[in-house]
Amino acid sequence: MNAIIFGPPGSGKGTYASILEKKLGIVKVSTGDIVREEIEKNTELGKRMKDYHDKGELVPDDIVIEVLKKRISEPDYAERGFILDGYPRTIPQAEALSKITKIDVIINLNVPDWIIIERLSNRRTCRECEAIFNVKYVKPKIEGVCDKCGGELFQREDDKPEVIRERIRVYQEQTRPVLEYYKGKIPFAEFVCDSPDIPPEVNVEIILGKLKKMGFL
Ligand SMILES: [Zn+2]
Repeated sequence: MNAIIFGPPGSGKGTYASILEKKLGIVKVSTGDIVREEIEKNTELGKRMKDYHDKGELVPDDIVIEVLKKRISEPDYAERGFILDGYPRTIPQAEALSKITKIDVIINLNVPDWIIIERLSNRRTCRECEAIFNVKYVKPKIEGVCDKCGGELFQREDDKPEVIRERIRVYQEQTRPVLEYYKGKIPFAEFVCDSPDIPPEVNVEIILGKLKKMGFL
């Protein structure tokens, strides 16, 4: 099964994709990760991407799709299937993707803004080791202090409510056309999150139930 997972920032998309990877034995594919890996391995494609990456510029679409094509044609991916996380973000990317592979299902995480804000605005990051805590759900033993290294916990600029609202807005604006593009072409497994404190494992079971009902498992 080849799937794409969509979800706003703070929806837990990366966590869900990792759990699905383990449960289904499929491979999680993040274009950001594979771009970095190609650069580290210093492959032909990696060399072409390094300049953009070093300058902090976006790697052009045609190179990203080439990297993706190379990766998903490896036997492991072709046999087990994959779950794409964070791609495609635009219609041209979706069109390019449709030329190199077949996507079976879209997993769409619908998470209300208030839950995302609740989750992210309670997040604290360690200045030293970057461990992540949550002042409500994953409390450090001592307030403001990292359990792992004793470093100071702080709130990242990205996790402040006004910044979160803006990130959600940008996501919706970018993703809506891509979701529209897929409607009617590829079946959607819609997941609606309605509570901030349900463990991701429980939510993933609900998603698996949907996929089963749809005949993918
Ligand atoms: Zn720490």
